[in-house]
Amino acid sequence: MAYRVSLIPGDGIGPEVSDATRACIDALGVDINWDVVLAGEPALKEHNSLLPESTLASIRKNKVALKGPITTPIGKGFRSINVALRHELDLYACLRPARYMEGTNSKYPGTDLVIVRENSEDLYAGVEFAVNEPKTAALIDYINGISDKKVRKDSAITIKPISIFASERIIRFAFEYARKESRKKVTCIHKANIMKCTDGLFLSKFREIAALFPNIQANDVIVDNLTMQLVMRPKEFDVLVLPNLYGDIVSDLCAGLIGGLGIAPGANIGETIALFEPVHGAAPKYTGKNKVNPTATILSAMLMLKYLGETEKAVILEKAVSSVIKEGKFVTYDLKPTRDDPSAVGTREMAQAIIKEIKKELKK
Ligand code: NAD
Repeated sequence: MAYRVSLIPGDGIGPEVSDATRACIDALGVDINWDVVLAGEPALKEHNSLLPESTLASIRKNKVALKGPITTPIGKGFRSINVALRHELDLYACLRPARYMEGTNSKYPGTDLVIVRENSEDLYAGVEFAVNEPKTAALIDYINGISDKKVRKDSAITIKPISIFASERIIRFAFEYARKESRKKVTCIHKANIMKCTDGLFLSKFREIAALFPNIQANDVIVDNLTMQLVMRPKEFDVLVLPNLYGDIVSDLCAGLIGGLGIAPGANIGETIALFEPVHGAAPKYTGKNKVNPTATILSAMLMLKYLGETEKAVILEKAVSSVIKEGKFVTYDLKPTRDDPSAVGTREMAQAIIKEIKKELKK
């Protein structure tokens, strides 16, 4: 029976990388009925809503979605639709594998780590108070009344909630993932030396839950120390579990370790729904240029196939991507030794090379 998957092409480079990915899945012969739905600017134009109810209904019904990146205006305008989707669908776990592939520009052969980022709270909860507004003034007065520490009156405030519920849920997810994938170690990342209440809570829940998984090593590292250790010895890390903001920042760092955002896939997973999307954003300067690397979205679809139980097809897809990158001939600019290499191919041509490899694999 065919799978039904919601597909949000996104904006910027989203439609190009989504088309390339869809072509690869079609070539694999996985029977998927794509339910194409919109979010962000394209949805605003078509449905007068940034996140139409019909888009959420499609994902809730199909339970699985593949998504291209969506632009978020910086410092003004609407809030991130990506964050809104994760909140609305309670996709609390963000999974971002960072595995070295031969042929990339990575300086770290052997890197193979997985980021498990908490997706629902922390500074991303959206509890914000703008500077010089009456609500903000009232909040500042209240804080100054109950706390020894004083907040300046001309401050803007973003609240950082870290709950027992969400901490336990994500940490348990990380250990269960490690067990399922035969991973050896889970490392908790935090800044509990400074944020003793919030990060301190996250760390204490980590220690409690780690004790329930005696066969998996557990340790913790302060986030600033982690960034240094990652660029010196990434092979020492296996599964990292992090609160939302550190998870976001460290994800891009890890994408850099394996050769760039063009090849870094991701998944947002909840109890019953999963949404797969690349780590990268909409890269607006490359929109419509047939320039960017489709690998991150194709590998996100590979994670989706695994989630659907199509493990064999997932392995074929990953192999096809790896061999195209290893050969280094039909790859986009970001995988060439220099960014202006004239032999770089476009998004579509790289996808075609991957499809050729898929067909070879399927014939074996
Ligand atoms: P970005 O990831 O879009 O791009 C940063 C740079 O990374 C690009 O200029 C490009 O050099 C490189 N890059 C990104 N994707 C690539 C690919 N597939 N192939 C080759 N190179 C690639 O980050 P940004 O410029 O900070 O964000 C642009 C927009 O995307 C913003 O509006 C941001 O909010 C949004 N964004 C969306 C998501 C999402 O949809 N989940 C994630 C991150 C950023």
